[in-house]
Amino acid sequence: MEISGRQLIAGRETSATSDSFKADNPATGDALEPAFYEATVEEINEAVEAALEAFEIYRSKRVETRADFLDAIADEILVLGDEFLERTSAETGYPLARCSAERDRAINHTRQFANLIREGSWLDARIDLPDPTRKPFPKPDVRSLMQPLGPVAVFGASNFPIAISVLGADTMSAFASGCPVVIKGHPAHPGTCELAARAIYAAAERTGVPAGVFSLLQGRGHEVGTALVQHPDITAAAFTGSLAGGRALFDVANQRPVPIPFYAEMGSVNPLFILPGALKSRAPQIAEGFVAALTQGNGQFCTNPGIVLGNESEDWQRFSALVKEKVEAVAPATMLHAGIHKAYRSGIESRCENEDLQVLGHSSENPDDAKLEAAAYLFETTQQGIVNDPTLLDELFGPCSTLVSCGGSEDMIALAKSLEGSLSVTIHGTEKDLADHRDLISILQTKTGRLIFNGYPVGLEVCHSIHHGGPYPATTHSHYTSVGTRAIERFVRPVCYQDWPDTLLPIELQNANPRGVLRMLNGHRTRDAV
Ligand code: NAP
Repeated sequence: MEISGRQLIAGRETSATSDSFKADNPATGDALEPAFYEATVEEINEAVEAALEAFEIYRSKRVETRADFLDAIADEILVLGDEFLERTSAETGYPLARCSAERDRAINHTRQFANLIREGSWLDARIDLPDPTRKPFPKPDVRSLMQPLGPVAVFGASNFPIAISVLGADTMSAFASGCPVVIKGHPAHPGTCELAARAIYAAAERTGVPAGVFSLLQGRGHEVGTALVQHPDITAAAFTGSLAGGRALFDVANQRPVPIPFYAEMGSVNPLFILPGALKSRAPQIAEGFVAALTQGNGQFCTNPGIVLGNESEDWQRFSALVKEKVEAVAPATMLHAGIHKAYRSGIESRCENEDLQVLGHSSENPDDAKLEAAAYLFETTQQGIVNDPTLLDELFGPCSTLVSCGGSEDMIALAKSLEGSLSVTIHGTEKDLADHRDLISILQTKTGRLIFNGYPVGLEVCHSIHHGGPYPATTHSHYTSVGTRAIERFVRPVCYQDWPDTLLPIELQNANPRGVLRMLNGHRTRDAV
């Protein structure tokens, strides 16, 4: 399939009049054809206007049509074939197997959203029947359910070019909810974005969905994304990426004359606590699992374990020696793009110069800068070192982590209290460890959206119960997740209908309950008709 490099607005290719850029192959430095054009202000307006027009049609379609649209997208992703995976691999340096795994994840979450909306209970339909005889005032008939917000702006991350980009859960959950999407393509993988967009249009055509439900705007630089969030007809935005980018756009969303929800999933240090019993009984296994998690995908995961904490002891020294040996054996690997590589290199340099840190070990092979390679790094410090310099707890995106030795459980508790919000917190412990560290565990529950026991934070399960979120700075709204079917909750709001005629109600609120959805009727969950 040919890649045009144009904006794709409601299925149409725009003309090529603006500045252009090319994607690079990070492993070779070669520019990849073709050139991609920067979206202009007129094109941004055109995309949002098309989305608004499509919203009225799309939201009133039967839910079965929306679900069929999602299933058709899942089918069309496969139709893109190897050419799609090869383009993604060239733009990211990821091996084909990783690209294929991401494609599977995108297909899986797209079908999960189709099934979710077919089932219908996610709408949280509630009915309180009237009581005209109630004194002193009659009770009205009150019913409510979730309704879509309107056009949604989406920003994907560079490290998930398929599963958190055009075909990501942000796009699919917005479509599932009834909202159109205008996505700002990630400049590091514009060709992947365009091919993915074409799969969405093919699915829209097959299922009779207006093409205006989706537009792809390309751009390298912050102007396109900023203008998109500022557009008055954008009603919400979802972002995955850096803390700097997420926070900047969150502020833009809040400074609008009419502020909108801006759901940013950002970076995180994902602390991993090793309690004394686990350290004594399983140090080699934990060392192995930790280094594998740290270096998976070259450390380019938002769930990377960025700090590891344990009590100073012989067992801790043994664990440190084991991880040092394993990290030294890790071969340097290509990072996603020049910006991430530069940030990683300068972050490592400044940590090497930091008096509160020592280098414990790093890949023994030298990285090749021409291939944007990163060496794995391990630093060590003490709880006091973190007190001296809290910036040591900041995320450094890449295969790097810091071991923090504590003087005992009081130190661990003090450190836990000082942690910022994280996407995950991992605890390795025995039954006795858990019983001995209730206070610590209680504090850690306030710091994260996902607690992991005797496991590792990478390799997120995409399912109904997952929560991929957490207190700021992990996200801007700790209530919401960007992964799993609950992601749909970001793009809806409850609408209440009081004494509304049955035939005018949304079908899920009508007395007969023709779709048989689970509803709350006078406070009880039931699928019964009224
Ligand atoms: P990024 O540089 O923040 O880019 C994400 C998107 O936002 C791009 O489209 C970028 O386009 C745009 N953008 C960035 N800063 C902006 C600004 N100030 N104004 C307007 N637009 C802006 O992030 P990335 O390199 O793609 O991803 C790496 C980061 O994502 C890591 O920190 C990682 O931890 C995080 N991440 C988080 C999750 C999660 O679920 N929480 C998942 C994966 C990755 P332009 O550069 O063209 O403006």
